[in-house]
Amino acid sequence: MSDKAASIPRPLPKLEGATGQFYDWCRKGELRFQRCTSCGTFRHPPRELCAECRSFDWEWTRSPGEGTVFTYTIVERALHPAFAGATPYAAVVVEFPEGVRLLSRIVGLAPAEIRIGMPVRVDFEAFSETVTVPVFRLR
Ligand SMILES: [Zn+2]
Repeated sequence: MSDKAASIPRPLPKLEGATGQFYDWCRKGELRFQRCTSCGTFRHPPRELCAECRSFDWEWTRSPGEGTVFTYTIVERALHPAFAGATPYAAVVVEFPEGVRLLSRIVGLAPAEIRIGMPVRVDFEAFSETVTVPVFRLR
């Protein structure tokens, strides 16, 4: 990693509204998804309206955090300078039995070892005092 890349901060999510609440749960070590209290449908990323029944009524429901790799891509050339020293890395979409998918990454495994359908479990990685993100490990 060049010194220039090391000095560029990694882009982090804006902790606003339901998105901020999602990351608050992550900071507490809990993966939670929104569940519509009218029809029971889970959703992610966080948003106010249910796409199935158009209800604004929802709650946070804790997920066991176990899913499978739905798809992934290996990034060889970083699109943001903050990630220049991290290549190659895999951007992974994890699918959960709740019916939602989450874009993340897998730790403890080389990108070339990742396979579609691989069972993974959530872990958490703190980037700052306020931002903790879900990552995944092979289970
Ligand atoms: Zn609904």
